[in-house]
Amino acid sequence: MAGSPRVGVLALQGDVREHARVLEGLGADVSLVRRPEELAAVDGLVLPGGESTVIDKLARAFGLAEPLRAAIADGLPVFGTCAGLILLADRVLDGAEGQQSFGGLDVVVRRNAFGRQTESFETSLDIDGFDAPVHATFIRAPLIESVGARATAIGTLPDGGVVAVEQGRLIGTSFHPEVAGEDRFHRRFLAHVETR
Ligand code: GLN
Repeated sequence: MAGSPRVGVLALQGDVREHARVLEGLGADVSLVRRPEELAAVDGLVLPGGESTVIDKLARAFGLAEPLRAAIADGLPVFGTCAGLILLADRVLDGAEGQQSFGGLDVVVRRNAFGRQTESFETSLDIDGFDAPVHATFIRAPLIESVGARATAIGTLPDGGVVAVEQGRLIGTSFHPEVAGEDRFHRRFLAHVETR
């Protein structure tokens, strides 16, 4: 492939800049995606953390939800963190009334799955394919309650709860690697973009 990979960050709401910064640090050509034309111009997309209900509503209002659904089905590499994972999941539990996801990832996630005292926490996690643990920041995070046959758990909490999955060119994490400057998931995502 000639030049840097062209990747987008869905920029409707959430921690867009943190992701753009990590991707730029890895040499990617990063653009912010809000419209279907902008989606059509990228070879991979990051769905940031934020509030999945808001991102869902805005994506539908901007006419982006359907093209994005189609692009994912067509093999677009996507990396979703936290709210982004929720948007990528085929099924969402404890969603808001009428909440939809783009889907693609064969998992069931539960929104805001961690109780009050652990609403936000940080921990060190082993991830399949990484040779050292990641520093994982959970902020009102979802839990992956069930992993379907097409997806693979790549990270679990000590109690066995699944918090990172991969399925072909899709990656989803319950936590935010980008806030601590962790770049290995983004590298993995860019590798999916380059081998597409
Ligand atoms: N609780 C948020 C939601 O349901 C996700 C939080 C996050 O992305 N940090 O969308």
